[in-house]
Amino acid sequence: MRGRLWRMSLLVAIVAAPLLLLGGCYNSAWRPGKLRVGATYSVLGDLVKNVAGDSADVVILVGPNGDAHTFEPTPKDGVSLAEADVIFENGVGFEAWLDKLHSSSKSKAKRVVVTEGLELREGECHHAHKPGEKHEHKDEHEDDPHVWHDVKNAIHMVGVIRDALAEADPPNAPKYKANADAYLAKLQALDAWVVEKVATLPKQNRKLVTSHDTFGYFAARHDFDVVGTLLTSVSTEASDPSSATFAKLVESVKAARVPAIFAENVHNPRLMERLAKEAGVKLAPPLFTDALGQPGSEGDTYEKMIRHNVTVIVEALKP
Ligand SMILES: [Zn+2]
Repeated sequence: MRGRLWRMSLLVAIVAAPLLLLGGCYNSAWRPGKLRVGATYSVLGDLVKNVAGDSADVVILVGPNGDAHTFEPTPKDGVSLAEADVIFENGVGFEAWLDKLHSSSKSKAKRVVVTEGLELREGECHHAHKPGEKHEHKDEHEDDPHVWHDVKNAIHMVGVIRDALAEADPPNAPKYKANADAYLAKLQALDAWVVEKVATLPKQNRKLVTSHDTFGYFAARHDFDVVGTLLTSVSTEASDPSSATFAKLVESVKAARVPAIFAENVHNPRLMERLAKEAGVKLAPPLFTDALGQPGSEGDTYEKMIRHNVTVIVEALKP
C-alpha cells in the first residue's frame, strides 16, 4: 500500500516537473492563437510592430538604449526565441550572439534577415588620417550593418517584414498588407521630410563626428562627410582609442571646423565630452543610433528617432 502511494507520487512528480518548469519559463507576452514574432533590436522591433498590428505578438530582445553589438542574452531571451514562430534579424554581423542563442534554445523559429536585398556599404576606416596617408587596416574592413539610418532602407525592411508575416500567417495576410501600406506611406513622408530638412544645411556644413561608425548609410544618402568616429569601427565592441589616435581625432575635428560633435544613446558619452572639450566644439544632445529611446522619450519610435536625429544634426551644424 505504502509502496504504491510512493510510486504514484513519484509518477506525479515525474509528469508534473517538466510542466511546472515549462510553465515557469513561458513567456507571458504571447496571447493564445496569435503568431509569435521575435525581433532582435528595438529599431527593427518598431518596424515589425507597425506591420504586425494586433494580429501577431512581438517580443524584442535588445530593448531601448540597448547595444546589440555587445548584447549578452539571458535565459529568458532563449525562452522567447524557443517559443517564437518567426524571428526578424538585421544581419550583416549586427547580432553576433544570435546563431548561438538560436541553436542553444533549440528554436524552430524561422529566421528572416531584413537587410537581404539591400545594397550594403563597407565600414570605412575612420582613423584620423592626413589626406593621402596610406592606412594599414584594410583587412579590418567589414560590411556596415547600420542600414536603418537611411529611411529608404527601412522602407525595404518593412516590405520584407510584410511578406514574411503573410507567409507565416496566411489568414492574416490582408491585415499585414494593409498595416504595411499605411506605415509605408508614413515612411515615404518621413523620407521626404529628411531630404527637405537636410537641404537647409549647406554642403560644407554636412560633417559628422560620432561615437562609432553608425551613420554611413545616412551620410552616403544625404551627402555628409564622416570626419571621424571615436571608436574607429562599425561596432561598439572596439576598445577605446589610444591617446595617439585620440589626439589625431582632436586635430581632425579642429581641422574640419565643425561646430559640434554627437554622442549616442548606446554609448557612454565620457570620451565624447573630452573630445568636444579638447577640440573646442559643442557636444550636441545624444542621437538615437543603434536603439530607440525609452518609452516616453523623443526617440521611442523609429519615426520619432529619425526626426529627433535629423533635427539635432541640422540645428547643431547650421552656420
Ligand atoms: Zn552600431
